[in-house]
Amino acid sequence: MSQRLRDIPSVEKVLQALGEQNLPRPLVLGVVRRYLQEIRSNETVPNASQILVELQAALKKARTSRLQPVINGTGIIVHTNLGRSPLAAKVAQKIAETGATYTNLEIDLESGERGGRAGYVEQVLALLCESEAAAVVNNCAAALVLILRHFARGKPEVIISRGELVQIGGGFRIPEILETSGAKLREVGTTNQTTLADYKAAIGAQTGLILKVHQSNFRMAGFVASPARAELSALARANGIGYVEDLGSGAMIETEKIPGLPHEPTPAEVLRDGAELVCFSGDKLFGGPQAGIIAGQRRLVRAMKADPFFRALRCDKLILSALQATAEICLAAPNPALPAVQMLNLSVKDLQARAEGLTHQLSGVAAQINIRPGQSETGGGALPDARIDSVVVEVKPRDKKLEELAAQLRTGTPPVLGYIAEGGFRIDLRTVFPEQDTLVVAALKAVLGDRAEIVSRREKVEVR
Ligand SMILES: *Cc1c(COP(=O)(O)O)cnc(C)c1O
Repeated sequence: MSQRLRDIPSVEKVLQALGEQNLPRPLVLGVVRRYLQEIRSNETVPNASQILVELQAALKKARTSRLQPVINGTGIIVHTNLGRSPLAAKVAQKIAETGATYTNLEIDLESGERGGRAGYVEQVLALLCESEAAAVVNNCAAALVLILRHFARGKPEVIISRGELVQIGGGFRIPEILETSGAKLREVGTTNQTTLADYKAAIGAQTGLILKVHQSNFRMAGFVASPARAELSALARANGIGYVEDLGSGAMIETEKIPGLPHEPTPAEVLRDGAELVCFSGDKLFGGPQAGIIAGQRRLVRAMKADPFFRALRCDKLILSALQATAEICLAAPNPALPAVQMLNLSVKDLQARAEGLTHQLSGVAAQINIRPGQSETGGGALPDARIDSVVVEVKPRDKKLEELAAQLRTGTPPVLGYIAEGGFRIDLRTVFPEQDTLVVAALKAVLGDRAEIVSRREKVEVR
């Protein structure tokens, strides 16, 4: 064996030097083995300390990529990258209760016969949407696919305004979803202007459906027009074709009652205006788990559920439990006790008081700490241009770049996320749970260093 290869330490030696990694041991072993294998084929072998540094970095990457709670200081309430709506504690508890035991998922306890899945939650959702029936699938994209498959079966053409051919987040483009569902896209109007006459002129023997997609993650302003929902649904009815709306967010609350927010159409309102079906996400402004909810006419909902493809899109018992608990909370009050809704309703005064408490505790850190007005967003593709007044804690480190501070906070335990603006790192308190305030303080102290603690540590040493 060459000297070069003999210099490579053994797996056991490396493992010992790495110490406790807070990761499953076989995973650590796998990373170490693969790494040592790799450097065997390299021209030059890194020295022992280099090896440790590189392995520590690889293991840290594994640790931070593990799914874990993070503190959301971005001010974006429904943040898709951060798992959208946090669940209410009661809802999370329901998942724990039903997940760890057997349930009546598909049994009718009265007759003892096999029962329908999700019957109860469908009933509650139908009540909330003031609809004849409802069904639940994995997400809103799946709901849309089912709906399109149904309407495109006989007559494949789906009419949609060019202003609504949108992309929602990564990899969800309305035209692509339409095509994978077997529907044929029939675009009408222009990006900013679509008239009732445009829709009317496009209806032909092959038309199965008029689809309206809520312009969720952007807003057009200026010379913009599209026909009212009631006009479109009347047109569809007169021509014997379907009218469906993909609502995206699915707010159950009157968003216009929150200062700074415009009105967001509710599923019930869309159905009242004549849509035969509406679909929306469970984890956006609805405030529950990931799901796609379809509500509307009973005959159509039945048809969706009869599609063999429905089987591939159905939710599991954990999601159904969470959705059931969320829907019951929605049913209980007009301002449901769900975190996303509660965050929307937090007052600037309360946020200001929390910010003052935080700043006080941070008086010893090596940074300038300011309280500033901020602007929160609903996110999740709802009300894209609406801003809610908020309060941010601004951190200006004395001897650290803002990007470095952001990265250190992001990779800490728990990770803290904020944003950089106007020469400071900002944490919007609207999306931070009050019980996380102490964690934010601890994270900032850990990253910035706390003069008060350093001094007191020194004092202790001196006493001894
Ligand atoms: C978010 C959104 C979707 C996708 O919803 P998922 O539940 O993530 O599948 C579809 N349509 C609109 C209009 C949306 O805003």
